[in-house]
Amino acid sequence: MHLNRKQLIGLAAAGLLALYGCGKSDFDNRAMKEYAERLKETSSFRYPLDEYFPEIPVTDTDPPKTERRENHHTAEDSFAPPGTPVYAIGDGIISYSGKARGYGWLIIIDHPAENVYSLYGHLSTSRWKKSSGEVKKGDLIAYIGEAEECYTMVSHIHFGLRMGQKADYPRLGNRRWMAGYTNCRPELLGWFHPSEIIGQTDSMRAWHRYIQKREDIKTGRTLLAGDFKITSEKYNEKQDLDQMIKNEFGDNYRLADWNDILTFSTNIEEWADSLGLGEGEENSLLISNDGYRIWLGRQYYISRFNFNKPREYLAHDSINNNFVCLGSWTGLNRHVLAVRK
Ligand SMILES: [Zn+2]
Repeated sequence: MHLNRKQLIGLAAAGLLALYGCGKSDFDNRAMKEYAERLKETSSFRYPLDEYFPEIPVTDTDPPKTERRENHHTAEDSFAPPGTPVYAIGDGIISYSGKARGYGWLIIIDHPAENVYSLYGHLSTSRWKKSSGEVKKGDLIAYIGEAEECYTMVSHIHFGLRMGQKADYPRLGNRRWMAGYTNCRPELLGWFHPSEIIGQTDSMRAWHRYIQKREDIKTGRTLLAGDFKITSEKYNEKQDLDQMIKNEFGDNYRLADWNDILTFSTNIEEWADSLGLGEGEENSLLISNDGYRIWLGRQYYISRFNFNKPREYLAHDSINNNFVCLGSWTGLNRHVLAVRK
């Protein structure tokens, strides 16, 4: 085969890509699937959080090529407030507990009986955490950290489960033991989908229901200001807001959605006044946004700022130059906005 200069350069580039791309893979898809099945039957791991459901999965197909080299997520992310307790998923030995780049605090537990290790990232650097020794399943090992101390936008746990023990992997490169992202499909490097092995707990199922999109929102219908009601009690994102609305107003009301409020965009001040929506974040009302109640673990809510949105308030959307804004946060106790079905 004779190659011209251009083809040679092309081949060299492909070779380089392979080197910096996926490189050598340790496992194949079938071996991983079989081992995952076996672990599902023989292990008795628990989820590291008492509540909350993984909202961002392990990458299982090649995402579209981007500028970023490492764009395959090796773990499952669950969004939970800072201070949420984190537990050992099974019996094992802590093989790492310390700060790690991009993670805040990171803990690795080797589970020799199952020949896997579990990885818990974005833990609090400042609160108590277990630093070494043996752990039993369910032992408290750390707390979820604040977003700022953990190099993340929103507080969450990055929870990985991988074939082998920490010592089986190098400190650097695509196969490194603490990799949160890699160049190629994580299964080829031994990373499992943890929730497929652990299964779903009742609280995970409940949480999943909360973040699922509701289907009964009709956009474009004509609403009057009088179709909205504010609950007399305050609630938070962990409660079943539909049930709370039903308790207060009966079957004919549901949680209001940002789309419902958008229909008042021309006379939003009148709407807010007639509703009795007060100014400031403390008067915010819980709602959904385009059918979703939860965004990355945070409950959506509407706030009235009379055109003066605080600088630190991150608005997903706003009406009439920040007269009202759509925000989201965790752990808020607020009144809930309901609307006639
Ligand atoms: Zn993650």
